[in-house]
Amino acid sequence: MIVILLGPPGAGKGTQAQRIEKMQGLVQLSTGDMLRAAVIANTEVGKKAKGFMEAGRLVTDKIVIKIIEDRIQEGDCKKGFLLDGFPRTLTQAKALDNMLDQKSLKLDAVVEIQVDDRDLVDRIIGRYTCTNCNQGYHGENLKPKVDGVCDDCGSTNFKRRVDDNQETVSSRLEAYHCQTAPLLPYYEEQGVLKVVNGMVDIDDVSVQINDVLSSLN
Ligand code: ADP
Ligand code: ADP
Ligand code: ZN
Repeated sequence: MIVILLGPPGAGKGTQAQRIEKMQGLVQLSTGDMLRAAVIANTEVGKKAKGFMEAGRLVTDKIVIKIIEDRIQEGDCKKGFLLDGFPRTLTQAKALDNMLDQKSLKLDAVVEIQVDDRDLVDRIIGRYTCTNCNQGYHGENLKPKVDGVCDDCGSTNFKRRVDDNQETVSSRLEAYHCQTAPLLPYYEEQGVLKVVNGMVDIDDVSVQINDVLSSLN
C-alpha cells in the first residue's frame, strides 16, 4: 500500500504516521526527518537545506525528489510506504507519479488531515519529541504517561525543533497554502483524495484514517 499524508505543518501527519507504522507495519518516510538528519550530519544535502528550513521555506524540489527516489529503492519499502511531508509541490507530485509509474506501482490514497490555521500555531509551539526514539509529544495535548519519561523507550531526553517558533510559523503556513494546497485538486482529479477531520482528538483522527485504509484493502 502506498499512502500520502497531506496537511499543513502541525496538522498531525507525523503523529498519525507513527501510529500507522506501528499498527499496519507500513514504513513512514518523512522528508522533514530525513532533512533534519542531513543537517545534523552536515552532509551536502544538509548544508543546502539548513537555511531554507530555518526560514520556514520549502527546500528545493530537486533535493527532496532525489531523497525520496533513493529511499524508496530500499528493501523495507517493498511492501509499501507512507509518505509524510512529501510531496509538497506539484513538481514533486509529478515526479512521484513518474517514479511509481516506472516501478509499475500505484498510489492508493492521499489522506488530507484538515485543521484550521488558528489551531496549528499552538500545536507547533507545543511540540517536542524524544531525542532517542523520535516519538512525538505535546506540552498540553499529548504528554508522556510519566512526566519527563518517554512512553516508548524510557529515555528522559527530549528536544524541540529550531524551526518550531512563532516567526517561522506564518511562512510555513503560507508555503502550505501557496505551494502545497494545489495538490488537493490534483489528487482529487486522480480519484485518490480522502479527507479526514484533524480537529478532533488524536485517537479519533486515527479511527478516521484507519477506516480509510481498511476501505482500500
Ligand atoms: P505534522 O507532522 O503534521 O507537522 P505533528 O504530528 O508533529 O504534525 O503534530 C503537531 C503537534 O500537535 C504535536 O505536538 C502533536 O502531539 C500534536 N497533535 C497532533 N495531532 C493532534 C490532535 N488531533 N489534537 C491535538 N494535538 C495534536
Ligand atoms: P511540518 O510538518 O511541521 O511542516 P516537516 O518536518 O515536514 O515539518 O518539514 C520541516 C521543513 O523541512 C519544512 O519547513 C521544509 O523546509 C523542509 N521540507 C520537508 N519536506 C519537504 C518537501 N517535501 N519539500 C520541500 N521542503 C521540505
Ligand atoms: Zn523515546
